[in-house]
Order: sequence, then structure tokens, then C-alpha cells
Amino acid sequence: MTYDRLVCANCAAPVSEGRCRVCRASRERMQEQGPFAGLNPAMLIALMVILVAALALLAHQAI
Ligand SMILES: [Zn+2]
Repeated sequence: MTYDRLVCANCAAPVSEGRCRVCRASRERMQEQGPFAGLNPAMLIALMVILVAALALLAHQAI
């Protein structure tokens, strides 16, 4: 997702220019999401599989 075309509701300028506090805040928030937004879907699936396997292992040990 890109924020280049996003227009700020506070100053009506593009958020990417960061003219006001609201712009900069939303810009920072979007940059924080960056690493997750760019994450490979295959990587997410692999992480999910590992998580499920770990849970299954724990459940097996609990019994
Ligand atoms: Zn603004």
C-alpha cells in the first residue's frame, strides 16, 4: 500500500509532504506497517505452519 496519493484531512496537502503534525503521524504509522506490508505471503504461511506445529507439539506433551 502506498501513501503517496493520500491527502491529509487536516491540511489538505499530500500526507507524503508531512506539512502538519497529522501528516507526519500518519506517515510514521504507515512506515511502521511497511515491513509487514512487504512481507512475503509464503513467509507468512511458513510462520503459520511453524506456529501450528509448535502448538501441536505442546498439546502432545500436555497429554
Ligand atoms: Zn496534514
